Formats: sequence, C-alpha cells, structure tokens
Amino acid sequence: MKKLIVGNWKMNPTRGTDARKLFKSVNATASKLKNTETVVCPPLVYLESLGELVTTRSCVLGSQDAFWEHAGAYTGQVSADMIFGTKARYVIVGHSERRAMGETDEMVSKKIKSILQFPLIPIVCVGETKRDDDHAYVKLVKNQIKSALADLTQEEIARIVIAYEPVWAIGKNAKKACEPSDCREMAHVIKTVLADISNAEIAKAIPILYGGSANAENAEPYLKDGLVDGLLVGRASLDAKEFIKILKIAEKN
Ligand code: PEP
Repeated sequence: MKKLIVGNWKMNPTRGTDARKLFKSVNATASKLKNTETVVCPPLVYLESLGELVTTRSCVLGSQDAFWEHAGAYTGQVSADMIFGTKARYVIVGHSERRAMGETDEMVSKKIKSILQFPLIPIVCVGETKRDDDHAYVKLVKNQIKSALADLTQEEIARIVIAYEPVWAIGKNAKKACEPSDCREMAHVIKTVLADISNAEIAKAIPILYGGSANAENAEPYLKDGLVDGLLVGRASLDAKEFIKILKIAEKN
C-alpha cells in the first residue's frame, strides 16, 4: 500500500495567494513521489483555485468537512456534492475540533453516508480526549468507529480511511506526544474493530493514519513502528519545507 500523507491546513493561511504559494511548493515535490500519495486539505474557500494547480494523482486535494444534505436552506454549509464539483477527492470527517464544537457520532455517520454517494474518500477521525488506567479510551474509540460506519455496506467500508488522532496529542498545547507504541496499540484495536464489522481482507486494506503533533522529527518512528499507513499532519503541513521532509520520509519507509 502507498503511504498516505494528509495535510490539514485548518483555518490557514489567511490569503488565497499564500495558499497557492504553499500548494505549489508542496506539489513540486509531492507530484513526483511514487510510493506516497499526498492530500492537501485547505479551507473550503481555496479548493476551487487550488484545483487548477493539481497536476497528478500523487498530490490531490481534500475538504476539511462536508454537510450531509445535498442542497437547500442550510446557511453556511457546503455539501459533499459541491465538494465533488471541485478537484477534491478526500473529505476529513469528525475531526476533534469539529466534535468539540458539537459534532456528534450521529452527525459524523450522516456525513460519511453522504460523502460515499460520490467518488470521494472520507477520512474518518477518531480518538480519545484522555487516557485512563482502566482503558475506557479503547472502548470509546471502538464505539466511535462502530457508530461512524454503522449501516454501511462492505463495499462502502472498503472505501474509507481512518485517522487515529488522540486529542491530547494534537496542537501546540499538547502536553505530551503519543508514543509510537501507543499508536501501534490503537492501530491494532482499530484493525480488529474493522475486521469485526467487515472482514479481515477489507480491514487489512483500509489505510490507518496517525495524527497528533506529527512532524519531520517523529514521522519515521510512527511510520516504522506505529502500524500505520500514513499521517494526518496539522501545524507541520503549513511549512512547505517541513511538510516536504515528511513526504520524503514517507516515500522511503
Ligand atoms: C490535527 O488537528 O489533525 C493535527 C494532527 O494537528 P497537529 O499536527 O497540529 O497536532
């Protein structure tokens, strides 16, 4: 399986000219990689313009969210149908920052179903806010996955990507890093749940990403020892040099 590196730009940069500059720098390297697929997820407002700069399938675009209805009186929302109309091919769903703003497991599930009606790939984010000695976090992540994928057919499940993002390891206020061994443990749990709700063959082929303060320094240990197929990168995806270093590490691992 190719490595999958996803850059989540969140609400950055402030200007479209800077977004184009950043995408062009990343694309110059990412478009030449043979063993790595890069997905850049800019703010929605830049998707159309960055779509003009996409040159290969090795470096494509993704959205950071999609609403579950196709069209209508939903002020401020953007549908999967509209996202498909741009060059985007992936959609992040259930990011912890959206869950913190009130997105529920049920809403995540509705979004996934609407995304799968188009040739789009949902990147489903799961992860616990804290770890506890009784391992309740394992059950929580299992439940997030079961709820997100409820009522999907086997073919639909086979089209998703799971991103394990322990919330306590995300962002500049993260108190500690997620060790590759922690990541490995949860990747194993995720694969087991996926096999339970689909089958071993499908579960094996579903890419699992790690996200949470990933950067050029720790990318290699996660990719080598974390039992994951790629990374979901926040802050480090806003610095072209740093992000390209991560892509090169993914390419040789
Ligand atoms: C994220 O928000 O998905 C993320 C992984 O952020 P960061 O890399 O900045 O911790």
